[in-house]
Amino acid sequence: MTLHQNFIAGSWIDGADAGENINPSDTGDVVGRYARASREQAEQAIAAAKAAFPAWSRSGIQQRHDILKKVSDEIIARKDELGRLLAREEGKTLPEATGEVLRAAQIFDFFSGETLRLSGEKLPSTRPGIEVELTREPVGVIGIITPWNFPIAIPAWKIAPALAYGNCVVFKPADLVPGSAWALADIIIRAGVPEGVFNLVMGRGSVVGDAILNSPGIDAITFTGSVGTGKKVAAACVEHMRKFQLEMGGKNPLVVLDDADLAVAVEVAVNGAYFSTGQRCTASSRLVVTEGIHDKFVAAMAERLKGLVVDDALKSGTHIGPVVDQSQLDQDSSYIDIGRKEGAKLVWGGDRLNREKPGFYLQPALFTETTADMRINREEIFGPVASVMRVKDYDEALAAANDTPFGLSSGICTTSLKHASHFKRNSEAGMVMVNLPTAGVDYHVPFGGRKASSFGPREQGRYAAEFFTIVKTAYTLP
Ligand code: NAD
Repeated sequence: MTLHQNFIAGSWIDGADAGENINPSDTGDVVGRYARASREQAEQAIAAAKAAFPAWSRSGIQQRHDILKKVSDEIIARKDELGRLLAREEGKTLPEATGEVLRAAQIFDFFSGETLRLSGEKLPSTRPGIEVELTREPVGVIGIITPWNFPIAIPAWKIAPALAYGNCVVFKPADLVPGSAWALADIIIRAGVPEGVFNLVMGRGSVVGDAILNSPGIDAITFTGSVGTGKKVAAACVEHMRKFQLEMGGKNPLVVLDDADLAVAVEVAVNGAYFSTGQRCTASSRLVVTEGIHDKFVAAMAERLKGLVVDDALKSGTHIGPVVDQSQLDQDSSYIDIGRKEGAKLVWGGDRLNREKPGFYLQPALFTETTADMRINREEIFGPVASVMRVKDYDEALAAANDTPFGLSSGICTTSLKHASHFKRNSEAGMVMVNLPTAGVDYHVPFGGRKASSFGPREQGRYAAEFFTIVKTAYTLP
């Protein structure tokens, strides 16, 4: 099997074999073999990016537009093949994976347009005769570190704006899912980025990630992943006095009020909690339900969960694919044990499942009779596990929703305009959904959270410019 190489300073370069990239739906299926970059290679990539920056940052916007547009066009043309690759290596279902691939294409298309819309401001000075100009300049070399759960969309929403605004990139994908990242890198490289502008360094966080964190050549880091790693990124960036942006975990609440449309609430909860195997930072793992609708909601949820097909991600008819790997499966199962020991009632699921091929299959689990202090309600599980908390009324629901160290996304199912409006204003989350799943966002508007979920400027849409550019204020006496 070919060893997929890293791309450093304009060339494909060999590295140590990372071993087999396994399909979680069928552990006998090897998706590919990928090279791990060494610390020295990561440093070479950073040096190459640094050297390429002066010319690239002053390159014409037409060139940058055309490259990004070409990337988008090729992703769209190959969406089925890339969707299959993504489903095979990460385990989300084929429709979810193809949707994610299309999202990556849309993001490149959006930022190809943004290169043509770069603008500044010209203002009068408070001092007569002087002119003030505000412009945005690229930051420099951006270190991009991404997680395994969105192997193509998250890299896309960091790489596209980085390049659009004239920065150079050193991209380190998650070790678990190098396949989609490699395919995206190959497309970007063939679209014509000049030597050194874009570098791919696959490998371990403790080696390649650490080299990025500790290199004086890196001007900014955009990171998505766990809180633990995010803190290390933050500490290193403070040490080097550079910009950073963190998107981290979630424990997102979905409030269901007595006046909710029951069918809508169940669909919103099932989608938000269990689709993509619950492995979304925006998953609604806490279902906060008022007492008037509680029993009906729980009964309808259990019924709906019984109908969900957990199977091979590539099979048509599969609703929920496998968990990404053995260690995540062990983590999910251990939280199911913790929930039981804490006194929560497991009303459905939680068992490991056997399917035709050996894989990491887990029956979606629903806990009821849970309380705010339980670990299953405080810690991110990152699997198909959700818990219902019974509350008296809207006020208790809002308090329970906000009672978390995280603040990425939140949702409410209600037909009351009063409660929906109040929730939108008072929910301590970066993104609020009314009668919609907590997961599932647009790409042309800001994405991000509060509290322990996020740090720094928002990602995506025009807000991406906040991170990927630096504002300059220039004064002129003509
Ligand atoms: P992780 O923190 O283990 O890894 C994320 C990335 O950091 C990987 O590329 C990893 O190799 C790298 N890394 C690990 N140790 C490092 C180190 N010491 N120095 C530098 N880099 C290092 O996270 P994960 O398990 O890949 O992803 C799951 C987490 O990501 C969950 O907490 C999830 O909520 C979060 N996530 C957040 C968002 C968001 O936008 N808020 C989106 C998706 C996932």
